[in-house]
Amino acid sequence: MLENKALISQLEKTQTLSKQEFTELIAHHTEEDAQFLFERARVARERVFGKSVYLRGLIEISNYCANDCYYCGIRRSNETADRYRLTEEDILACCEEGYQLGFRTFVMQGGEDAHFTDEVMVQIIRNIKSHFPDCAITLSLGERTKERYQKLFDAGADRYLLRHETANAQHYAQLHPAWMSHARRIQCLWDLKEIGYQVGTGFMVGSPYQTPELLAEDLLFIKELQPQMVGIGPFVPHHATPFANETGGTVEQTLFMLGLLRLMMPQLLLPSTTALGTIDKTGREKGLLAGANVVMPNLSPVSVRKKYDLYDNKICTGDESAQCVNCLGVRIASTGYKIDVNRGDAPGW
Ligand code: SAH
Repeated sequence: MLENKALISQLEKTQTLSKQEFTELIAHHTEEDAQFLFERARVARERVFGKSVYLRGLIEISNYCANDCYYCGIRRSNETADRYRLTEEDILACCEEGYQLGFRTFVMQGGEDAHFTDEVMVQIIRNIKSHFPDCAITLSLGERTKERYQKLFDAGADRYLLRHETANAQHYAQLHPAWMSHARRIQCLWDLKEIGYQVGTGFMVGSPYQTPELLAEDLLFIKELQPQMVGIGPFVPHHATPFANETGGTVEQTLFMLGLLRLMMPQLLLPSTTALGTIDKTGREKGLLAGANVVMPNLSPVSVRKKYDLYDNKICTGDESAQCVNCLGVRIASTGYKIDVNRGDAPGW
């Protein structure tokens, strides 16, 4: 077995490692190994993206959800959740505000809310595209059939985010009720790719029952899927879920996984997530310095932000969108990177 720095160099060169090698590296590394990884990850990201950080405006369209993920604060069984959904007018107003602030990608994310039928979504997508033809639309609305994803794509949606959550079916079953299917979720990702979406997947770092070996499986699944984006952030417990008393993920482990992802797939769009900024005041800056190249400021109306409550203590729930953008601009500048106001499609797209 190679020592850690040699493994990292090998990953940089060959863009993969064996499951055993990934597992070892994740389980046993020093702070010095991590710094070496981040340095190589920055070189890899700058080779593809220069100093650019892409912006995505996140619009949280609904917190109604049919699913019951044990970790998530908007799961259907959480009766204390204060439910809301945005109207088409609300969503367009968010886009208008976002456009003025320089956003060229809008991400509509929500729980699995039956209100947002294909017909409703098609109309919203068409409307956004006609008002903002130079913008990309990303959807993150959970699992649908391939036919339904196709309708949204045909209406003009460009990208779809659906984290696989864990590549391992047994682990999936520990994080979700029995009626939620790992196979179905994975199938959704292949369907989205086949249709022609730019696809984002991802997982939480430090979710209950996760081990270094399971994280290695996540990396290898991502290598196989070849998505354009990967969203990862620490698991953060939510007080009104079955995982209220579980331990959250750490900054260190999340950064390390970001670095590995960057070296494994240098062209990835890799957000430095709000969850990372929640567990560490400068978590998002650290994420950018570990290989991330995307930030997703919140564009939702301030009146609903606290209600899109996936985990406790979520940041940026009290600020106007303009404040969020200014604050992030300062944070990004402090890393030596800079906001890129282009659409920020995947390389070659
Ligand atoms: N309904 C959509 C959007 C889910 S919310 C879907 O199914 O894809 C977006 C992501 O938030 C989830 O994929 C999950 O990985 C993450 N998330 C949920 N609860 C969380 C928690 N307690 N801590 C950290 N991340 C969480």
